[in-house]
Amino acid sequence: MKVPERLLRQLETRVQKGTLRSLSVPPKGLVDFSSNDYLGLAASEVLALNITEEVESQLAHGATGSRLLSGNTRYAQELEEELALFHNAEAALLFNSGYVANCGFFSAVPQRGDTIFYDEASHASMKEGIRLSFAQSFPFRHNDVDDLRQKLKRAQGDVYVAVESLYSMDGDFAPLQELASLCQEQGLYLVVDEAHSNGLYGQKGEGLVSALQLEQEVFARIMTFGKAIGAHGAAVVGPGELQQFLLNFSRPFIYTTALPLASLAAIRQAYRLLPSLTQERARVQELARYYHSLLEDGRALASFSGKEGQNGSPIQAWQLPDPVALRRLANHIQAAGFDVRPVFSPTVPAGKERLRLVLHAYNTKAQVQELCNLLHQHTPKDISLPA
Ligand code: PMP
Repeated sequence: MKVPERLLRQLETRVQKGTLRSLSVPPKGLVDFSSNDYLGLAASEVLALNITEEVESQLAHGATGSRLLSGNTRYAQELEEELALFHNAEAALLFNSGYVANCGFFSAVPQRGDTIFYDEASHASMKEGIRLSFAQSFPFRHNDVDDLRQKLKRAQGDVYVAVESLYSMDGDFAPLQELASLCQEQGLYLVVDEAHSNGLYGQKGEGLVSALQLEQEVFARIMTFGKAIGAHGAAVVGPGELQQFLLNFSRPFIYTTALPLASLAAIRQAYRLLPSLTQERARVQELARYYHSLLEDGRALASFSGKEGQNGSPIQAWQLPDPVALRRLANHIQAAGFDVRPVFSPTVPAGKERLRLVLHAYNTKAQVQELCNLLHQHTPKDISLPA
C-alpha cells in the first residue's frame, strides 16, 4: 500500500536534519544514565518477587472491561485508598498511564468559559489534554511567575494553573511555593504533574508537593508510576469530589479497559517499599550535587551546565544545539560504556537539543566523574549556546 506523499516528505525532512527517530534496544551492560528508574525499583529483585507472590495469590489477571463496567475490583479501590493516604489527599483515581491521566484531567476539568495557564515547558501529555479541552489556554514563560501574573489579565471563568514539579527535560524545579501563594491569593486551581518527583522527594517519597507541605494549596496532582515507582500507570490525587467528577466525565478514564492485576500489584508493592528507600533518595541527590560540582570545576564545562535550579536534580541537560554533533557525542559516550540519549526538537525546542542525563541511586561517583570527563572531551569547543 502506498503511503501518502506528505508523510514521506515529513520523514525525509527529518532525515535531512539528522533528527529521524528510530527504536533501538540498548546493548546490555551499559551504565544507565538514561532511564527514569531513579531508585532502581524497575530492576529490583525484591520487588519482582513481591509482585509475583501478590499476583499468584489472586485469581484473575485480566481486567475484562472498563472500571465502570466489569473492570473494577476491590483490589483497585483499595489501592486507590492507599495512594490517597500515602499522598495525603482525600482521594486518588487510577489512570492507565501518565499520558492518559493528563489527557483525562485537562480534557474534562477545565471547561468552555474557563482558562488554563500552563508553563511552556510542560510535558506533551499536558499540552495534549489542554488541546482536548474547550477552555481557553495560554502558555507562560518557563518558571516565570511574573509572566504568569501578567497573563492572568486574560483569565475568565474558573482558572487553572498547570505546572510540573520537576521538569522532565530541563530538570529544574517549579517555584511551587510562589505559585501556590499566588493561586491561593487569587482563587486559582493549581495542578501539578509530579511524574519526576514522585518517589524521590518527601520523607517517604510522597513527592515535592508533600515535601513542601503544599497538599492543601494544590488542587490536583498527577502521580505517575513508570518512573521512580518502577512500574506503569498513574493516578490523579486530590479532593473526593474531583475523583467522583473524573470517573463520571473523563473520557480517557471511562472508555478504556482497566489496568490488569499485574500492574496494580506492581504499583502496590512498589509503594510498600518506598518509605524504606531513604538512602536511595539521598544518594540520587548526592550524585546530582556531585555532577554539578564537577561542572562548576571547569569553565568550559560550566558553559554547558544548563540552568540554575538543577543542583540536586536527578535530571541534567547537557545542551548541544547541533543534531549531528549531538548524535556523535552520544555515540562516543555510548561506545565508552554509558547509556546516554540525545533529545532532539520537537521534544525540546529547536536550538536546545541536548543529552538528557539521569542520575540514579545505583550510579557511582566514579561513573559520574567518568561521564563528565567524556562530555568534556567529546563536546565540540566551538559551539555557542543560545541564551
Ligand atoms: N508527565 C511528565 C512530566 C512526563 O515526563 C511523562 C513521561 N515522559 C508523563 C507525564 C507521561 O507519563 P507516562 O509515561 O506514565 O505515560
